[in-house]
This record gives sequence, C-alpha cells and structure tokens, in this order.
Amino acid sequence: MDFLQRISEKAKNLGGLAKEATRKSGDLIEVTKIKYELAKLEKEMEYNLTGLGLLYFQKHRGEEGLEGEIDRLIQSTGLLEEERVALEQEIEKLLPKGLTCSDCAVDLPAGGKYCSYCGSKIDKDD
Ligand SMILES: [Zn+2]
Repeated sequence: MDFLQRISEKAKNLGGLAKEATRKSGDLIEVTKIKYELAKLEKEMEYNLTGLGLLYFQKHRGEEGLEGEIDRLIQSTGLLEEERVALEQEIEKLLPKGLTCSDCAVDLPAGGKYCSYCGSKIDKDD
C-alpha cells in the first residue's frame, strides 16, 4: 500500500467513526424523547387511576350508572400500560448494552477484567 492509499484508507475509517458517533448521539436524542413521552404517559396513568379511585368511591356510596365510565378508564389505563412497556423496551434497545457478570449477574462498567462484586473473571464475547 503506498502513502496516498494509506491516507485515503485512514480518511475512510475516520468518516466511518464520525458516522458511528452521529448515530449514537441520534440514539441518545431518541432516548430523551422517549423518556419524555414516558413521563407524560405515567402522568396520564396517574390521572386515570385517581379517577378510577374516585369513581369506585362514589359507586361504593351508592351512586348509579358509573360502570361505563369505570370500564372506559380501566380500558384506557390498560392501553397506557401496554404503551409504557413498549416505550421501555424501545429505550432498552437504544441504550448501549453494558457487560453483566456471568456469575452474579451484576452490571459491570466497561473495560474491567474482573467483577467488582464477586471477583470472577469476565469473559468478553467480542
Ligand atoms: Zn460477579
């Protein structure tokens, strides 16, 4: 490989690295967005559950005709819960996966050779 060729190889690699970095920061922005959605969703669930509590209380006191509203709230809270699980899975997918000790399943910081918790040797799969 001559000098010019080496230079152009190097430039290509750098370009790849830059692309990778952009992709990663894009993921982080995405995670922030999803977390924001998640917070809104949890707030909504809280409102629903508060509403449900109130409706049950009124029903318990003998108010009639609340079943429709109770059903509606239970259903919409169920949907919110499903959406919450989906968003959490989405975040999990986007965040870089850390190492886990194969013996004690503790999460480990990158770069270590031994588990800081149980001291067993870490097998890296890469
Ligand atoms: Zn361990």
